[in-house]
Amino acid sequence: MAIHERSLVEPERILRKERLVIDGVDVSGDWNLIILPRVINDYDLDFAKEIINSPDGKTINQCYQCSYCTASCPVHNYWDERYNPRHFIYLARLGMIDELQKRADVMWRCVSCHKCTHRCPKGVLVEEVLKAILRTMAKKGLIEEYPSKKFDKFFTESVLEYGRIEDGELLFGWIEKQGYKVFKDPILKKPIPFLGETPEWLKELTVKPIKSMNIGFLVLNAKHMLFHPRTKNWSRFKQVLRKVMQEEGALH
Ligand code: SF4
Ligand code: SF4
Repeated sequence: MAIHERSLVEPERILRKERLVIDGVDVSGDWNLIILPRVINDYDLDFAKEIINSPDGKTINQCYQCSYCTASCPVHNYWDERYNPRHFIYLARLGMIDELQKRADVMWRCVSCHKCTHRCPKGVLVEEVLKAILRTMAKKGLIEEYPSKKFDKFFTESVLEYGRIEDGELLFGWIEKQGYKVFKDPILKKPIPFLGETPEWLKELTVKPIKSMNIGFLVLNAKHMLFHPRTKNWSRFKQVLRKVMQEEGALH
């Protein structure tokens, strides 16, 4: 399978002379670029088999590496060129788990826009295949689980605890879980927004809507953040709900 993107080739394998004349023909520049071959001896073909046998991964072998998916992917084009669907499929088919692991920090970035799938001339369900690769790796403990799953757990715990969601507390509780220092009032121990280490992006994201809120709504929100209202009779219902969720495997 061809490698299309030069950024994916290790610089030491690229040979190119600034000035080269062969048989009187000047082939300076890109015309004389040579990529030295490499030997791959660390791979696991069972990994690819596992993906093909999973419901979402069945189309992986239809890929002929044209790179249309990568060319149309907004994450690749506007965020981080290391996010490369074609290359992930290539690595998965060869069972090059180490190489996939090296890219674990970007592989979850798919925004599920399905542009790749619409463009693929071979009918590969690209987005599904990528998720199958990630799920297989996470199941084997090769990468961390889907980051949004951590938020889902945090969200579920919050609902189970109070029987309702208070947006501010949920948001700042989550920010705290990410390692930021959140300031809490000394009596009720509730987070006070924007005191502590609020990330810049969050400030920008929240200040605008807050500015457009009327004062009554703002006071109500602040009150809810400090005096967390609970759903009536929630503690009994909570026990039942927890038990059912545990039995169904939705809670660990
Ligand atoms: S567009 Fe389809 S065939 Fe082309 S590289 Fe992507 S998945 Fe493979
Ligand atoms: S679905 Fe994911 S991989 Fe496909 S184009 Fe969109 S962001 Fe890229």
